[in-house]
Amino acid sequence: MKVGLDVGGTKTDAVAVDDGGAIAGRIRIPTGWGPDAVAQTVVDAVGALAAEAGVDLAEVRSVGVGIPGQIEPGTGRVVHAVNLGVEALDLAEAVAPRLGVPVRVENDVKAAALGAHALHRASGAAAPASMAYLNLGTGVAAGIVADGRLWRGARGTAGEVGHISIDPHGPLCRCGQRGCIEAFAGGGAVAERWRHRSALPVRDVFDAADAGDPSARRLREDLARGVAAAVRVLVLTADVDIVVLGGGVTALGDRLMTDVAAELSASAEASPFMRSLRLAERVELLPPGSLAAALGAALVGAEGDATHDTEEALVHG
Ligand SMILES: [Zn+2]
Repeated sequence: MKVGLDVGGTKTDAVAVDDGGAIAGRIRIPTGWGPDAVAQTVVDAVGALAAEAGVDLAEVRSVGVGIPGQIEPGTGRVVHAVNLGVEALDLAEAVAPRLGVPVRVENDVKAAALGAHALHRASGAAAPASMAYLNLGTGVAAGIVADGRLWRGARGTAGEVGHISIDPHGPLCRCGQRGCIEAFAGGGAVAERWRHRSALPVRDVFDAADAGDPSARRLREDLARGVAAAVRVLVLTADVDIVVLGGGVTALGDRLMTDVAAELSASAEASPFMRSLRLAERVELLPPGSLAAALGAALVGAEGDATHDTEEALVHG
């Protein structure tokens, strides 16, 4: 049995995965704020799996944690997890002695990529040799899975497509550049540019655009342009079989997918080369409520197991 956690800004999901890959238990608890409270959340979540979901902790061999921050390569140390009030925290070191099993920590989007890949395989569809998971949340980032493994790159930056600038005169991005994909397609950037207070700003933008509001239409077009650009980048650099879209913005479902498909089709019309890539057919939506990040974190946590090769354990363990 392996446990995976998805530590989010407000809530933490935990799953226990049995040796056959099936989810044997799942719970959700609120996430604490700051380094100590985040570490406590991880310990509490594992405890809640036993108390609320009947998971036998004696059978748990590893814990993996997906967290929204940068992970220093080869360590369990998370830095710049601003949504959690964490500047730097050696999370693995803080919780492993309390849990009594090996703990591995991964960026949440990368963990979700691994989870999305596992879900795709389990769905009975033809297993893609490679895929990218494009997370459209407050920010925009992707994780790439090749031959069933996360491709992290030399410094863990592989897949950070949100900060590729597609317009030097575009809106200022929080990273300091102009016209980043994230400045067009990030939920946070859309909310900021919309300037109307709302609990669901991106949905509001889509509704206002449908009602004919010109500034909402522009934001909606920009969002689709940003997502389509990210899809093109992922296919043209890594030639992934499919790009799976997930994250809060994808709650818009078909309304978003229709816009993105139209953007991709427009570039295909202008170019026989782009047409040959059949991009619109290679984009899929992650099923809502799929727990991909927690599931992927469980797989990350078990990466040092004998079922994986030594080199992988050495590089990422
Ligand atoms: Zn940027």
